[in-house]
Parts: sequence; C-alpha cells; structure tokens
Amino acid sequence: MVLPVVVYGDPVLRKVGVDIDKNHEGLETLIANMFETMYNANGVGIAAPQIGKAIRLFVVDTAPFAEVDEEDEEKEEKLSKKEIEFLKNFKRVFINAKIIEEKGEEWAFNEGCLSIPKIREDVLRLSTVTVEYYDQHFKKHTETLDGLAARVVQHEYDHIEGKLFTDKISPFKRKLLAGKLSDISNGKFKADYKTKIYKK
Ligand SMILES: [Zn+2]
Repeated sequence: MVLPVVVYGDPVLRKVGVDIDKNHEGLETLIANMFETMYNANGVGIAAPQIGKAIRLFVVDTAPFAEVDEEDEEKEEKLSKKEIEFLKNFKRVFINAKIIEEKGEEWAFNEGCLSIPKIREDVLRLSTVTVEYYDQHFKKHTETLDGLAARVVQHEYDHIEGKLFTDKISPFKRKLLAGKLSDISNGKFKADYKTKIYKK
C-alpha cells in the first residue's frame, strides 16, 4: 500500500527515532509499504519518520542511480562500472542503524527529499560511512559504503536522527529557501505522489 509522505513542517520529521525490536507490530507490512511508497514516488530511500513514525527504520534501493542511458555519458564518466554494478543491487532494510564511522573527503551532491518536494541543493558529506544495522530478519550487519550508496544511507540516517538535508546547507542558501519551505509546510506545493500536510 502506498502511504502518504509527511512533508516539511511536520514535527515527526524532527524527532529522534526510537529503536524497535523484531516483535514490532506490523513490521513486515510496514517495510513492504515503505518500499511501495518509495518506488511510487521515484525515490531511492525513505525513512519511517517520512510516513509518520519516529522509529529507527529506513529502506533504500539505489537501482535508479545505476540506470545509465546512452545519452548520459557524463554519468558514465563519473561512476565506475563497479559502482554502477553495486548500486544496481543496493537494496536494503536498515533497522536500528548506527553510524560508527564517517571518513574520507567531503564531496557535494545535489540532494532531494520526498518530504521536501521539488527542492534540490548541493550538500557536502564525507565519502565513506560504516554503519551497523539489523536487516528485516533482524540479522546484524556492519557495512562500509562509499559514493552514492554512502550518500543515500547518510541522508536516510539523518531522518531517523530528526535531521533534514536543508539543515546542512549554508545559512545564506537556507534564507533563500525559507519562503519555499514555508509554502511546503502550509500545503502550497505540488508533488507527484500522495503527501500529508501537518495540521497545526
Ligand atoms: Zn529525505
């Protein structure tokens, strides 16, 4: 089932998510619904706060990043064959994730967010991240990621920490965006998927 996506201005996006256990009610359905909601909105990741639940759960599928069409030579140049192959299969469920290390060079990527429709900004993040998490079967993993896979995990991880990518841009850029962000929180925006506006 496609769920409505909570948008900017809803306090649930600012809550630090709580850990869950394997008996969390309706977990399997919730995960399936989150994937469906993400695919429906053409996203590569979605976190539980974005569907209104302040729990430490997010899902990712970076396959769209691996779609290199012939016209897009620039992308082909930027991504190695190895990274494209990895992104094609980087579909994961992250439960109770904890970033244990971030390192490498800071690099900029033009990020967007299903909760902040039609706004994109360059965000600087470190290139490599090591994350500890449980999968949908509550099997524990420790994974080190870089490039776009790291980027998606860092973005979604921020969600379960109550942070948004707009927190990471310069105060100047944020000031320029203030009007648009306030429009979103007041329901004055268009999105290509179902959204939920917070009623004050
Ligand atoms: Zn987001």
